[in-house]
Amino acid sequence: MSARFLSSRMAPIVKKFDYLVIGGGSGGIASARRAAEFGIKAAVIEEGRWGGTCVNVGCVPKKVMFNTAMHAEIIKDHQGYGFDVELKRFDWGRVKQSRDAYIKRLNGIYETNLGKASVETIVGHASFTQDKCVEVNGQKYAADHILIATGGKADIPNIPGAEHGITSDGFFDLEDLPKKVVVVGAGYIAVELAGIFGALGADTSLLIRYDQVLRTFDSLVSEAVTDNLEPGGVKLCKRTQISNVKKEADGTLTLETSTGVIDKVDTLLWAIGRSPNSDTIGLEKIGVKVDPKNHVIVDEYQNTNVPGVYALGDVCGRFLLTPVAIAAGRRLSHRLFDGKKDLKLDYTNIPTVVFSHPPTGTVGLTEDEAVTEYGKDNLKVYKASFVPMYYSVLDHKQRCHMKLICAGPEERVVGLHMVGLGVDEMLQGFGVAIKMGATKAQFDSCVAIHPTSSEELVTMR
Ligand SMILES: Cc1cc2nc3c(=O)[nH]c(=O)nc-3n(C[C@H](O)[C@H](O)[C@H](O)COP(=O)(O)OP(=O)(O)OC[C@H]3O[C@@H](n4cnc5c(N)ncnc54)[C@H](O)[C@@H]3O)c2cc1C
Repeated sequence: MSARFLSSRMAPIVKKFDYLVIGGGSGGIASARRAAEFGIKAAVIEEGRWGGTCVNVGCVPKKVMFNTAMHAEIIKDHQGYGFDVELKRFDWGRVKQSRDAYIKRLNGIYETNLGKASVETIVGHASFTQDKCVEVNGQKYAADHILIATGGKADIPNIPGAEHGITSDGFFDLEDLPKKVVVVGAGYIAVELAGIFGALGADTSLLIRYDQVLRTFDSLVSEAVTDNLEPGGVKLCKRTQISNVKKEADGTLTLETSTGVIDKVDTLLWAIGRSPNSDTIGLEKIGVKVDPKNHVIVDEYQNTNVPGVYALGDVCGRFLLTPVAIAAGRRLSHRLFDGKKDLKLDYTNIPTVVFSHPPTGTVGLTEDEAVTEYGKDNLKVYKASFVPMYYSVLDHKQRCHMKLICAGPEERVVGLHMVGLGVDEMLQGFGVAIKMGATKAQFDSCVAIHPTSSEELVTMR
C-alpha cells in the first residue's frame, strides 16, 4: 500500500460541500457560480491561475495579439485611404505588458466574483481518493456532487530536441517578436499564432503534415485559409515533418525536416494538438472511465460512469471552446440544483470563429457531413466569392468566400462557412437564425444591409 494511499485513507475530511468543482477555468467557475445562485454550498479547486486556459493562455491574450496583428495590417492600408503615416517601430514588449496587466486584473475579478457568489476557493492540485473524496495539499474534502473541469494541455512530440520548442503557453511568455519562427501544426491554434507572427513581420514558416490547414473544417474554409497564409506573411511548408531539433551555441535552433534543414530559428512553436488533464487526478481510484486518448467519457448530461461525478469542457475532448464549457457547466448546475431535470447542452450548430487573416466563421454541418446526413440530391449549396468594398481603394485585394448549405425541399440552412474581412463579428446573429431552423427563403426575406459583406448572405442565388 503506497504512502499516498494511506495518507488519503487516513486523512480526516476537513470540509463537506454540496458541490465540489476541480478546475477554476471557464467551465468550472461558471458551473460553481451558477450552483451557488441556488443556495448550494460550492467550492472550486484551482492549482494555477483563476480563469484557466481561456483567460491566461488562450482566447483572451490570443485575441489581444490578433488585434495587434490587425493593426499591423491596417497600417499598410492607411496610404490607400489617404493617410500619410510612417510605421517607425513595433514594440512587442509594450503590448505584452498591457496584456499581462489586463489578465492579472481578470484573474482578480474571477477570484473576487467567486467570493461574492459565496463559492469557496481552494488552491492546490486536486486528486480523488479511494473513498470518492478529493485531496488537496493533504487535506480531504467531500461532496455529494463532484465536477471534473480540469481542461487540457498542449502536446509536444516525442522527437529528439523537442523540448527546445515552446507551445501556445510559451507564446504568451515571449518577451519580443522572434526574428525567425517555425510553427508546427495545421489546427486553428497553429493557424492563428502563425498568422499573428506573420502579420507582425517575423520570418514565419508553418509546417504541416499534409497539403491544407483546418482539414476538419468545410473545404471552402480549408482551401481559403490555406491560400491566405502566404499573402499574410506565412511561408507554408506542406508535407513537412520535423525529425530532430538541435540547439546551437548561439541559441538558435536547427531543424531537420522531411523536406530539408531549417536553421537560425529563434522560436519553434508546437501546435500539434492538446491532451486532457486527466492523468494526475486519481480517476482510477474511483473508476471513472476514459477513452483511448484519456478524455473523460460522459453522457449527454455530463455524467461520468460514477454516480455523483461529472465532467465537462476540454477534459472531455469535444468542442474545445470556452462558451461550450461555460454553457455545459451552467446547464449542469440547473439540472442538479434547480430542478431542471432534462437540461443539457445541445452540441449541434455551435458557431466557431478562427482568427485567421482574414478571419473564418463557421456553424453547422460541413458540405461532406451534410451529404452524409441528407444525401447529395437533397442539398442545395450556395456560394459567393467577392472582394469586400473595403479593398476598393487599395492595391491589394482579399476576397471574401461564403457557403450556405441548405437541406430538403424547404431549404433549411444546415451549414454556413465564411472566410473574409468581418465574418468573425457577422456569425453570431446568423448562428441564432440557423439554430432556430431558418430556411433560405427566411434568410432572403430579411432586407439586406448595404453596403456590407453580410448582405451577401441574404441575397445569394
Ligand atoms: C491558444 C489557445 C487559444 C484559444 N482560443 C479560443 C478562442 O478564441 N475561443 C474559444 O472559445 N476557445 C479558445 N480556446 C479554448 C479554450 O481556452 C478552452 O476550450 C477552455 O478554456 C476550456 O475550459 P475548461 O473549463 O474545460 O478548462 P480550462 O479553462 O483549461 O480550466 C481548467 C483549469 O483546471 C485547472 N486544473 C487542472 N488540473 C487540476 C487539478 N488536478 N487540481 C486543480 N486544478 C486543476 C487548470 O489549472 C485550469 O485552470 C483556446 C485555447 C488555446 C490553448
